[in-house]
Amino acid sequence: MNLTLCLTHDCNLACTYCYAGKKRRDAMSRHVADTALEFAIERTTEPLQLGFFGGEPLMEWELLQYATEQAEAATKRSGIRLLPTVTTNATLLTEERAEWLAEHGFFVAVSIDGNRAMHDITRPCGSGASSFDATLRGLTIARDHFPKLDTVVVIDPSNIGHLSDSVRFLADEIGVPRISINPNFYTEWPESALNAWTDAFGALGDFYTDRFRAGQSFELNFINSKIITRLKDGYAACDRCSFGEREIAVAPSGNIYPCERLVAEDRNMEVCIGSVFDGFDEGKYFGLLGRRGNRNEECIDCTLRERCMNWCGCINYATTGQINQVAGIVCFHEQLAIREADRVGNALYAENNPAFLKQFYYV
Ligand code: SF4
Ligand code: SF4
Repeated sequence: MNLTLCLTHDCNLACTYCYAGKKRRDAMSRHVADTALEFAIERTTEPLQLGFFGGEPLMEWELLQYATEQAEAATKRSGIRLLPTVTTNATLLTEERAEWLAEHGFFVAVSIDGNRAMHDITRPCGSGASSFDATLRGLTIARDHFPKLDTVVVIDPSNIGHLSDSVRFLADEIGVPRISINPNFYTEWPESALNAWTDAFGALGDFYTDRFRAGQSFELNFINSKIITRLKDGYAACDRCSFGEREIAVAPSGNIYPCERLVAEDRNMEVCIGSVFDGFDEGKYFGLLGRRGNRNEECIDCTLRERCMNWCGCINYATTGQINQVAGIVCFHEQLAIREADRVGNALYAENNPAFLKQFYYV
């Protein structure tokens, strides 16, 4: 079970693409956090993946500590594993906080949009000032405490021209082990930006290949994940969207959504499927589960179908208004990512690259 607690609607940044909506000082109470934990734990015998999200979750640091300690005690009583995660903009991360998160076994993801030039386009502070120095300070602390740190870069038509330099900066100069590139699908991508995106992914494919040739394995989400789908003949059932079923997100009010991306301002009752106090709204819950998947005619005979994320309910809903209808921009991304991953994978496999074989074939 994945339970995400959106600890607050507030944030100290004002990212241009933020899907959390308009910010407001509205934090989750301890009572809501306790009830959400009970709600999730009594419905699962699987490990509990407990995510903290926002707004910016580190703005509610004491609540995050409280909920983690409650979850540790409750999962211990129930005999299930706890896997805590936090996604943060890192501006409020200190050595002391990082040590606490590491001691409690957290997986941490830091959002930074690359180098200064790229980051400053899309991730300003609420005041409009640059957040780059504060973010980089937090990222450096995170890098030193979390060997499996994920670094999240959002690409947008306004910053795509800096992507290739930015990945080199984060990987080579800062030394992060892993970068996840998340496209902003919720905006118009003009032709020129699509071309820049294609060029940037090509350059990143070359960068990735060079790293492996130098014996330094590296994780870039769109290449790693699509190489794995090639080796496994597509996404396994357990990889696909568990939206609403094995995955729920709870707003500060206690309302339940099928994914943290849909919580936003907690005002869209079309995708709110209940509350931790009253349980699931069964009509909405089963209606949602029944509509999951992909219903695009053009996907039926597509040879990439099994390797494509056309089933991602939250992206589909946000881009087309239907959880089972994929948008053209997502199709563009999936084709590009698969093409680039295959180019890189074929080259490294043909060379018997030791770092590549070790990472993907365990030899
Ligand atoms: S840091 Fe996250 S929550 Fe805050 S404005 Fe940026 S995207 Fe939104
Ligand atoms: S690549 Fe495009 S057409 Fe093919 S399955 Fe994915 S979304 Fe559908």
